[in-house]
Amino acid sequence: MISSLTLPQSKINEMIRHVEEQAPLEACGLLAGKNDGVEKVILIRNQAQSLVRFVMDPYEQLEAFEWIESHGLDLLGIFHSHPAGPETVSRTDIAQAAYEVVHIIWSRPNGPWIARGFWIENGQATEVNLLLLDK
Ligand SMILES: [Zn+2]
Repeated sequence: MISSLTLPQSKINEMIRHVEEQAPLEACGLLAGKNDGVEKVILIRNQAQSLVRFVMDPYEQLEAFEWIESHGLDLLGIFHSHPAGPETVSRTDIAQAAYEVVHIIWSRPNGPWIARGFWIENGQATEVNLLLLDK
């Protein structure tokens, strides 16, 4: 289990732009990097085009995995948005979590988008600290 994930401000901004553009639909993407540091945000199309669920476009996902591997990085996280809440992973998110990575949920309970990270294992979600790197 990873207890924290470090995100540069520029990567946060890339994710916010994407979830904002896709809202009210759920948006999704992948985070790649080394150790606990995110170096790359890869936006993936939500094939479901849904307000309440996401399905990563399998072709884009495969391409992303190949890109990550060919650049010597690791898959560190998966993010998606809950434009209408909740702030945390849903029961469905927990049931469908297929990778041992940090799951980031973007929501906007009070207006601005906020991110929370979770580690999902054995049907349990544990909150992970998201550390902001100011660059
Ligand atoms: Zn979700």
